[in-house]
Amino acid sequence: MIVAIRGATTAENTKDGITAAAKELLQEIFRANGLENDRVISILFTATADLDKAYPAVAARELGLTQAALTCLREMHVEGSLPRCLRVQVTAQADIAQKDVRHIYLKEARTLRPDLSTGIKIAIDGPSASGKSTIAKAVAARLGFVHIDTGAMYRTVALHVRESGKNWDDEGDVLTAMENIDIDIAYAPDGQRIFLAGEDVTRAVRTAEMGVGASAVAVYAGVRQKLVELQRRLSNSRNAVMDGRDIGTVVLADAPVKIFLTASLEARTRRRCNELAAMGLDYDFDSIAAQIQKRDFDDSSRASSPLKQAEDAVVVDTSDMDIPEVVAAILQIIKEKGVPYV
Ligand code: C5P
Repeated sequence: MIVAIRGATTAENTKDGITAAAKELLQEIFRANGLENDRVISILFTATADLDKAYPAVAARELGLTQAALTCLREMHVEGSLPRCLRVQVTAQADIAQKDVRHIYLKEARTLRPDLSTGIKIAIDGPSASGKSTIAKAVAARLGFVHIDTGAMYRTVALHVRESGKNWDDEGDVLTAMENIDIDIAYAPDGQRIFLAGEDVTRAVRTAEMGVGASAVAVYAGVRQKLVELQRRLSNSRNAVMDGRDIGTVVLADAPVKIFLTASLEARTRRRCNELAAMGLDYDFDSIAAQIQKRDFDDSSRASSPLKQAEDAVVVDTSDMDIPEVVAAILQIIKEKGVPYV
């Protein structure tokens, strides 16, 4: 299939600035659309008049695009338009249809097409009961993004293992069950819906037992690999706030905003107990604390993608904050990182 892909960015008016910006833009267009050099037919570059120190096509040559037809033009001037702006239009053979193409707008050029700024990613990680899902959902609602709850996917694998009559502590059993798993995700106005073999299991996976099963299946690299692929695919085509344990470190390692949400063991235990009380269930504070501590230990000590703070994550300790305060703090961080929409 032949597709045309648009992109734009802004650059410093130096030879290196223009070349670096053009390279970054092309690499992002290629990565987001799975393009290969030898399938590119042509690239049209335009630059505003204030970018006159280099031809952006040089960047394409330096990336090995020696066969594609390249042209550089000056962008028409419109009063008040974005300065130092570099635009491209790539025509290529691709494995995707035009309707699935991702046009890429970087830096200040994001403001040109806010409607197309899909794939903005906010990663939220943290230990059990730190409030990730509640906060991620609220932040997503404020931004008009989808909330991708990855814990629900591990829980659904656990449910499938259980329904298949297998043991989630046995890797062979789990990997066999994974061969015929049929998970589907949909985004409804009230949040993520998860389907197992066509049945909506969104609520069914919220039990404490499926939480334990999720932690058990989450140690197997074969399970993680499959779910990470699914998570990346889901976030590729939409703006998303994704929460889990390995989002900032593995799944969305390139996310522009990473939050590590944490709270003291006591605060997390209190929240979990309040949740159980609200559901009319009995609980014992010490045993809930012990369960949370065990989940922390299991999640942080496993070999495959353990729970850990990404180096570039911002830590938000919510021990003494209520939900609106945490949401406001995260929106402020997102704003400071320069993400549009905020
Ligand atoms: O967040 P939630 O309690 O739904 O997650 C259930 C379990 O799934 C976690 O304790 C963790 O073991 C696993 N998990 C994971 N990686 C993620 C999300 C969840 O390992 N990205």
